[in-house]
Amino acid sequence: MKNPKSCSEWQTLSESLNLRTRAFIDGRYVEAASGKTFECRSPIDGRLLANIAECEQEDVNRAVAVARQRFAEGVWSETKPTHRKRVLQRFAQLIEQHAEELALLESLDMGKPVCDAYNIDLSGTIRCMSWTAEAIDKVFGEVAPTGPGELGLVTREPLGVVAAIVPWNFPLLMATWKIAPALAMGNSVILKPSEKSPLSAIRLAELAVEAGIPAGVFNVLPGFGKGAGEPLALHMDVDGLVFTGSTAVGKHLLQCAGRSNMKRAFMECGGKSPNIVFPDAPNLQRAAEAAAIGIFFNQGEVCTAASRLLVHRDIKDEFLAEVAKVTATLHPVHPFEPNAPMGAMVDEGQTQRVLNYIDIAQREGGRVVCGGERVHPVAGGCYVAPTIIDGVQVGHTVAREEIFGPVLSVLSFTEEAEAVRIANDSDYGLAAAVFTNDISRAHRVARKLRAGSVWVNYWDGGDMTAPFGGFKQSGNGRDKSLHAFEKYTEIKATWINLEP
Ligand code: NAD
Repeated sequence: MKNPKSCSEWQTLSESLNLRTRAFIDGRYVEAASGKTFECRSPIDGRLLANIAECEQEDVNRAVAVARQRFAEGVWSETKPTHRKRVLQRFAQLIEQHAEELALLESLDMGKPVCDAYNIDLSGTIRCMSWTAEAIDKVFGEVAPTGPGELGLVTREPLGVVAAIVPWNFPLLMATWKIAPALAMGNSVILKPSEKSPLSAIRLAELAVEAGIPAGVFNVLPGFGKGAGEPLALHMDVDGLVFTGSTAVGKHLLQCAGRSNMKRAFMECGGKSPNIVFPDAPNLQRAAEAAAIGIFFNQGEVCTAASRLLVHRDIKDEFLAEVAKVTATLHPVHPFEPNAPMGAMVDEGQTQRVLNYIDIAQREGGRVVCGGERVHPVAGGCYVAPTIIDGVQVGHTVAREEIFGPVLSVLSFTEEAEAVRIANDSDYGLAAAVFTNDISRAHRVARKLRAGSVWVNYWDGGDMTAPFGGFKQSGNGRDKSLHAFEKYTEIKATWINLEP
């Protein structure tokens, strides 16, 4: 896929969009039971896009009841795997047919460059849905190694009703990592998108029904965390709770699961990922590009953002100068510009949060190498210049807390063991990278890094074939790959006595 439109063409398309603004329950769009709505504004220029249905407890109860009923009826849960496969393949095709519209909704809603929304989010979403559909009839049970007198069958069964609560940074992609395997395994699903990016999820619901997913099997409830998310997390008739978002909310949701019905709960949470550069990196220029793009892609609003650069003291000054040079080419512009390197932050709150961290960094002794301020490529929008902070120490706030913005913290090391120690000195363990030409060192360091994904000599490798998730407080469970199915099924052992 490549960016198919010019800035003015995206603009024209955005003016003709027919935004869906209501919840989707039992196969149709409905107002929130209370009639309440909330404002959805574009961070590109601050304009009001729509008023969105604000779902709460009563809407959650309705959606859970219908999802449960459909599950019990078996209209989806008891269909043949080949049927679910065909329907999800059709779903993937429909997403592809509407890729431009969906990409535009993502960009308008949360400010990312529309070319990234199209080339990365939408292509990843389509790939996830079609890969998962294709895998449905490749999942087998097991036969236990018994003696002649009995037969032991190990089978997978859907959980039942699954609630998926997702963030705003990759709205459709994060949602699809959950709903594709959940639906594939025969569950009924309730999706709660972020209040900051509800538009694409609401639109997706229609496409699900058009693809052939029975009404009530896939429902979408826009609303706030407290109002709509928490009632789902506490609901006694929700069997599975899957979440992507901050560590603080993830921890809270684990408590909700424990306080209610011990629903299966899987959390994909934050990160503070270290990127370690040794002097023998095969190509320092490419390593510098990876360091810059690894943090500034998607305005730094990426769970795996390369937010801590750990560079060897011998090459630090030279390397940092290269990273700064690349960074100078990555300034935010209007998100509809072709190949925009950066767009808008998701909202004013996130903009202020990032600026505040830059302040704290300086007060604690960090030095701003470039950026450090708000910029204004579009009037009324939320834009922060890509920022590099040198002189960061392990104990500094910007070395420990997830900023979720375009801020790179630079630390240095001398010994390999020191680099590993600094890298692992974090509550998080989502991703890490090591740049070196020494194959033994690459394996040695990769093995010692406490992270769910480790990359050698590049940043952000991976596709649908490999699991994604975190160590430590970056979460539990894994998205993507066949491992994702584990979150959406119970394992049953059935024993049959074969004695005459
Ligand atoms: P967030 O935790 O504020 O919100 C995520 C979702 O949870 C939203 O839908 C929100 O409405 C809901 N929510 C908030 N409070 C809730 C509550 N009390 N009960 C129930 N639901 C609640 O996170 P965010 O700001 O949307 O996203 C940014 C975070 O997501 C970052 O920490 C980032 O690292 C993380 N993230 C992780 C991954 C991953 O795969 N590990 C991927 C993307 C983003």
